[in-house]
Amino acid sequence: MRKQIAAANWKMNLSIEQAETLMTDLLASPIELTENQQAVFGVPFPYLININQKIAGKQHFSLAAQNCSNKVSGAYTGEVSVEMLKSIGVPYVIIGHSERREYFNETNALLAEKVNICFEYGLLPIFCCGEALQIREAGTQNSYVENQLKESLFHLTGESLRGFVIAYEPIWAIGTGKTASSEQAQEMHAHIRNVMAEQFGKEIADSISILYGGSVKAANAKEIFGQTDVDGGLVGGASLVAAEFSAIINSLKK
Ligand code: PEP
Repeated sequence: MRKQIAAANWKMNLSIEQAETLMTDLLASPIELTENQQAVFGVPFPYLININQKIAGKQHFSLAAQNCSNKVSGAYTGEVSVEMLKSIGVPYVIIGHSERREYFNETNALLAEKVNICFEYGLLPIFCCGEALQIREAGTQNSYVENQLKESLFHLTGESLRGFVIAYEPIWAIGTGKTASSEQAQEMHAHIRNVMAEQFGKEIADSISILYGGSVKAANAKEIFGQTDVDGGLVGGASLVAAEFSAIINSLKK
């Protein structure tokens, strides 16, 4: 069975004291993770080392950066390289979150470079895709998402994408309290898997974990995660509350 993942995206929230308290509370929560399940914490850069120390030795708990540079090193003030992340033991990087696409003009081509550099340095991307409301209303979400995958991932080999992680996040559902229905999520996840299967073969497509993101909460996680092609979630707001996120983690498919 492919990996089931509950990934937290803390975004630009919390002081270090709040972040440490949240992790302490989470670690004290009754969380049960089986062999193929993982809880991943996408924390702000300055907290990565602290939070890594807090989850050290905790099986199936892992860490993600929320972004990385497309450059290896050098005069790029304010950027954080994959080599830096690797050197402090960060395994995952969220790539192409819609907020980065929208507010920082990240294009599909730039994201292809970021995925490349992650692979080069052995980091695992959590590659985000998803359509805005007007695209959903026009009914063109399938081709829109397909194009995002095509322009950022299709240059890769199938083998390099074995066990890859994609997060489908309809922009209209992010932070809005408006969740996609479990049918809408399943429909798009199945589409994404078909697109990947057509390009890379069914075996590779079946190994890819496709997470849903957009107003996931403890109250709706089980139903959404229960869909055939939904392999967990990328969670913003609800990941900032220990009781919510621990319940979300416990809603992963067994
Ligand atoms: C996100 O930031 O990726 C996200 C899905 O946010 P929220 O869960 O708050 O909608």
